[in-house]
Amino acid sequence: SASPAVVALRPAPTNNLEAFWMPFTANRQFKQAPRLLAGARDMHYVTTDGREILDATSGLWCVNAGHCRPKIVEAIQAQAAELDFAPTFQFGHPKPFELASRLAAMAPTGLDHVFFVNSGSEAVDTALKIALAYHRARGEGQRFRFVGRERGYHGVGFGGVSVGGMVANRKTFGPGLPGVDHLRHTHDLSRNSFTRGLPEHGAELADDLERLVALHGAETIAAVIVEPVAGSTGVLPPPKGYLERLRAICDRHGLLLIFDEVITGYGRLGSAFAADRLGVTPDIMTTAKGVTNGTIPMGAVFASSDIYEAFMQGPENMIELFHGYTYSGHPIACAAALATLDVYQEEGLFERAAALETRWADAIHGLKGLPHVIDIRTIGLVAGVELEPMEGKPTARAFQSMVKAYEDGMMLRVTGDIIAMSPPLIVSEAQIDEIAERLARVLKAID
Ligand code: PLP
Repeated sequence: SASPAVVALRPAPTNNLEAFWMPFTANRQFKQAPRLLAGARDMHYVTTDGREILDATSGLWCVNAGHCRPKIVEAIQAQAAELDFAPTFQFGHPKPFELASRLAAMAPTGLDHVFFVNSGSEAVDTALKIALAYHRARGEGQRFRFVGRERGYHGVGFGGVSVGGMVANRKTFGPGLPGVDHLRHTHDLSRNSFTRGLPEHGAELADDLERLVALHGAETIAAVIVEPVAGSTGVLPPPKGYLERLRAICDRHGLLLIFDEVITGYGRLGSAFAADRLGVTPDIMTTAKGVTNGTIPMGAVFASSDIYEAFMQGPENMIELFHGYTYSGHPIACAAALATLDVYQEEGLFERAAALETRWADAIHGLKGLPHVIDIRTIGLVAGVELEPMEGKPTARAFQSMVKAYEDGMMLRVTGDIIAMSPPLIVSEAQIDEIAERLARVLKAID
């Protein structure tokens, strides 16, 4: 093999897009016609060729306060200069303690302890491990099973893929965790199409959990994990009464309930967390994305005091949970998160999202009747617009709409044949109308 010196002398390739193996992307297609972003501010991206792109997706559902907010930028810069890294294994620094306290104060009552990670996927794997270890600490180590849900997305770790329910994400990677079963999904176009907020029909689908309990035995099941509103599989709000029923069944059988709030956390539904808005409190809650406004990778897993205390029983010099990441509670991520929480609070962005919900729903539901649209779902500042798939070419129509929108100056996100939108919570009423108008143009222009 070539020595490093020889490699360094090689001329740089003319197409420098080749080396980056892009995640969740059609690499060959992208590299022929790349969509490259160079800058961002507030509601907009700027492309490498200088075009403004209206961000209708908060990046990847994460930039809830809008882009490059000065307060967050400054906090990151100052922290990088003051304390770049400090371990949190057997040492510490003040920021994750401060951040955890603030997060716990924001969280639904009872979720008083916070474990830091670096992503949504790590948050999910952490939550699953805490659930297993919790039962074991209480002498119920035989509870090893998890129940997820079809059309669930819980990131890409082996744990998250196993409990997740997106076929393409699972089938390539072998059997995953043992002992995982899935609830039926709740998406039902025949009964619930064009719903604002929670669909009327489908609470009874929660009883699927009783079926799985009867099949496997409650005493073998550790936890149930669901997104309170499924995001990545196309915006699927829970039917009225569904989450309450899941909660009741979990309580009846001693199962932990985990809410994956990686998308729904930090104001997306007009409340701090979906649990607040929907009135159901889980035992464990995973969050990421919006915790730092997408600026620095971070996730936060919330656990109830009951769970935390179950670990705090043995000799005091013993590590209670053999789990953690080098970057758990990273100083720069903590500084970014603290500044982000300040911005959310000072600007009242969660309340703002709630206040804009009707305007948002009116604008997006106004697209009913346009070509290809078979369903529209809205809740908080989220919307899913489902398109009739092209004959024999599933996903092609939505993909085309994403490309068209980008060419026209707007970022959309698509999954299957569903367009998902989740603008930053600073979106103005005029920009809400602009999103709807641009999408209308796109729908009329695609095949
Ligand atoms: N869980 C949910 C509900 C998500 O929506 C996502 C990402 O979209 C994840 C987990 C994974 O997060 P990450 O990509 O940060 O690992």
